[in-house]
Amino acid sequence: MGELSALFAPERIAVVGATEREGSVGRAIMQNLLDAFEGDVVPVNPGKASVFGITAVDGVGEADADVAVVVVPPEIAVDVVREAGEAGIEGVVVITAGFGETGSEGATREAELIEVAEAYDIDLVGPNSLGIMSTPVGMNATFGPENALSGRMSFMSQSGAFITAVLDWANAEGIGFKDVVSLGNKAVLDESDFVREWGDDEDTDVIIGYLEGIDDGQEFIETAREVTQETPIVLVKSGRTDAGAQAASSHTGTIAGSDEAYEAGLEQAGVIRAESVQELFDAARVLENQPLPETDDVAVVTNAGGPGVMSTDAIGDSRLSMASFTDETLDAFSEALPAEGNIYNPVDVVGDADNERFRDAVDVALGDDNVGSVIVLSCPTAVLDYGQLAADTVELQEKHRKPVAACFMGGDRVEPAAEILSDAGIPNYFDPARAVFGLDALSRFRDITEREYESPTTFDVDRERVREILSSVEGRADNRLGVEAMGLLDAYGIPTPDGEIVDSPSEARTVAEGIDGDVVMKIVSPDILHKSDIGGVKVGVADADVEDAYEDLVSRARNYQPDATIIGVQVQEMVDLDSGVETIVGMNRDPQFGPLLLFGLGGIFVETLEDTTFRVAPVSESEAEAMTREIDAAPLLRGARGRDPADVAGVVETIQRLSQLVTDFPSILELDINPLVATPDGVEAVDVRLTVDPDER
Ligand code: ADP
Ligand code: MG
Repeated sequence: MGELSALFAPERIAVVGATEREGSVGRAIMQNLLDAFEGDVVPVNPGKASVFGITAVDGVGEADADVAVVVVPPEIAVDVVREAGEAGIEGVVVITAGFGETGSEGATREAELIEVAEAYDIDLVGPNSLGIMSTPVGMNATFGPENALSGRMSFMSQSGAFITAVLDWANAEGIGFKDVVSLGNKAVLDESDFVREWGDDEDTDVIIGYLEGIDDGQEFIETAREVTQETPIVLVKSGRTDAGAQAASSHTGTIAGSDEAYEAGLEQAGVIRAESVQELFDAARVLENQPLPETDDVAVVTNAGGPGVMSTDAIGDSRLSMASFTDETLDAFSEALPAEGNIYNPVDVVGDADNERFRDAVDVALGDDNVGSVIVLSCPTAVLDYGQLAADTVELQEKHRKPVAACFMGGDRVEPAAEILSDAGIPNYFDPARAVFGLDALSRFRDITEREYESPTTFDVDRERVREILSSVEGRADNRLGVEAMGLLDAYGIPTPDGEIVDSPSEARTVAEGIDGDVVMKIVSPDILHKSDIGGVKVGVADADVEDAYEDLVSRARNYQPDATIIGVQVQEMVDLDSGVETIVGMNRDPQFGPLLLFGLGGIFVETLEDTTFRVAPVSESEAEAMTREIDAAPLLRGARGRDPADVAGVVETIQRLSQLVTDFPSILELDINPLVATPDGVEAVDVRLTVDPDER
C-alpha cells in the first residue's frame, strides 16, 4: 500500500455529524460503516450520548481515530477539519457540500479548507464527496445505497451519482472493487494522488475512473506514465464536445481544457481512454483478468459464417489483425473439420459442429505460435451445449495462457454459459466488436508497458536573443509578433530562409539583389495577421519588380486598414514549394496541461483540412517522430507518387526545438510556424506568428 494507507485501511473512523435521523446523510454513513467495517466506528455528535447504540463523543478531537468522515454543515466543516488535524488525524473525507461548487462564499471556504489541510498535512478527500470505500477492510464510508463487492479494480469518480449507478450494476454483474473514491471537488487529493496510490497498491490490478477534468496535466502525465508501466489505467474523460465541456464546467466548476489536450495528455500518460461506460468496463475487465497477448494476431473460431465476417471487420478496424496459421495448424484443421468447413481464419467449424469438434478447433488455434489471442464465436444450435463450450473454453484458456474473448450469441440460453466464463475472467459479449475492443485494449496496454520514456533532447540555443525579441512587444496593445520575430526561431536553431525587413523600396531592391533568384515579399504589420488574405504576400518577385511590389504591398495594407501600423516589408528567399510539403508546427497553452504542441498539414488550408495531431510539451524525439507519422498527410512527407521523401528528421527536430522554446519561455502564449516547408533538402520556417504575455516576460 502507498502513502494513503491511513485513508484506505483505518482502524478507527470518526463520523462527525453522526445521527440516527431518518433520511440524513449522517445516518446513511453510520449504517454503511456499521454494516461491514472491521475496525471501530466512533460517532461524533455533541448533542447525543450515543448513536446506534455506540457511545458518541462531543468532538472529533476526542475520537482517537485515524480517519474522520465529515458530514456537518458547511459553516462549521472547516473548524471540524482543523480540530481533526490538531488531534493528529491523517485522513479526512469531507462529504459536506457548499464549497467551490457553489459560488464565491463557497470558494473562500474551500480555500480555507485547503489551508487547514496543508497546515496539518491531512490527506483530504472532497469536499462534496459521496465518500470512499475499501473492500479489504469492509469500509463503506459513503452515503450511497450500495456497497461494493470485493475485487481488484480501484475506481475513482468525479461524479458521486455515477458511483452509485456503477455499483448497482457491478453488483448485479458480480464485478468487484478494491477501493472506490468519490473525488468531489478535489480540493486536496486529486486523480494524480490516487493513481500514485493505486500504482503502489498490490491489491489493485486495474485503475479505472470517470473524470470531468484533470487538475494538473503535467503532474498527471508524470505520475500515470510511471504507474502504467505495470498497472493499466482506463478512464472516461467526459466533456469531449464543446457542449459536454460546458456541462462539465457548470457541474464541477472546472474550466475545461481543450479535448485535444486531454487526448494527447492521456495518450502520453499511457492511459487507455474509453469513450463510454461500456468501453470502460469492457477494457477494465479483460485487463483485470486476461494475460497480455504476445502478438496482435487474432484467430476467430466460429460455427457461423456471418458473425465470423463481422468479427473480421471489427479486427480490421482495430489495431489487431487476423492471424495466418502455420502449416501444422492447417493440417490439423483439415483433419478435424468437415470438407465444407473453413480451415483459414476465421475458422468455420460449421453449423453442425458438436462440442468436441468446436473444442478441438479452439485448442488447435490457441496452440499456434502465430496466434496471439482467440475469439470463440458461436450461435446456438441443436447439437451444441453452451455450458459445455464455456467450460471447454475456460479449460483451454488456462492450458494455453493466451487471451480469449467469448462471443456466445443469444439471450436466455447464454446466461449459464456466460456465468461460467465470467467466473473464469472471460467476458462474454453478444457483439463481436466488443470482444475485439477488449483484445485491442490488451494489446494497447502491452505496448504501453513496453514503452521507453526517454527524456527530451536539450539543444544548444541562444536564450538571451529570444529574451530581447520578446521584450520588443512591450507597449504593443495586442502583444502579437509576426515575421519580425523570425530571429527567435533562428536563436533556437530552427532554419529560416534568408531575408530582411526593410522600410523603403530602394532598400528592398538592395536586399533582393543580395539574394539568389526571385524573392518573396510580405507586408509586416501587427494589424495584419493573415498576410495573404489581403494580398500581402508576393511570391516569385524578380529583382526589377521589387520596388513596385513594395509600393503595392503598402497600398494594399492601407486600403485594408488606413491606420494600420506598417513596420515595413519582408524580403525573403524563395523556398522550393514544388518539391516540398507545407506543414504547420505550433503551440498554444492549455489551462490544465500547459504547452500543447500541434503538428499538421500547413499552408493556407490548415483550418479547412484540420489534419493535425497534438502532444503536451516537452516532447522526446520519439514523441515528435510519432507526430509526423500520425497525420493523414504523413505519406506525403515520406514521398508519395514518385516524389522524393522530405526531410522528416528536420521536421522532428523542429518540433523538439519548438518544444524547448515554449518550455523555456512560459510568456509565449501561442506560436505558429506556418508553413514550415519540408523539402528533400531540409526544412525552412517561412512564417511565424506568436502572442506573448507581457506580464510574464
Ligand atoms: P500568411 O500566413 O500570413 O498569409 P505566409 O508567410 O505564410 O503568410 O505566406 C503565405 C503562403 O505563401 C505560404 O503558405 C507559402 O505557400 C507562400 N510562401 C510564403 N513564403 C514563402 C517563401 N519564402 N517561399 C515560397 N513560398 C512562400
Ligand atoms: Mg503563414
